[in-house]
Amino acid sequence: MSKDEAPRMHTAEHVLNGVMVARHGCGRCFSAHVNPKKSKCDYHFDHPLDDAEARAIEAEVNRVLSGNLPVFAVDMDRAEAASRFDLGRLPDDAGDTLRIVRVGDFDACPCSGTHVANTAEVGTFRIISHDFENGVLRVRFKLDAPAA
Ligand SMILES: [Zn+2]
Repeated sequence: MSKDEAPRMHTAEHVLNGVMVARHGCGRCFSAHVNPKKSKCDYHFDHPLDDAEARAIEAEVNRVLSGNLPVFAVDMDRAEAASRFDLGRLPDDAGDTLRIVRVGDFDACPCSGTHVANTAEVGTFRIISHDFENGVLRVRFKLDAPAA
């Protein structure tokens, strides 16, 4: 499934990553499977989430989404980007100018995927389940459509 087919989900992935980094000090997900109906993200992590932590992550993602933040791309020189971001997930042929996707002032990361224009379009973020094994936390989530 191409990320292009799930811009709401993929934008939610950006916000979830930003929340995980801010709240738990882990890295952004090292693997993601984004689909229109449900998605999952894997993090290198040090403990199983308890339900209170999961609900807190969910609430924080929704707080960010409800801020009606603009989602937009800016170009950045690769060397500058390398000093600010982990470029490990980028393909080697990404070029000398990278596309940095910003979610307002909340989050920024290099990405070539397709996003909504504003977090108001994403809808309500729900963590369906989470599990932890061998240092990997997997978070599965879905979105409830935004009110029309
Ligand atoms: Zn993206």
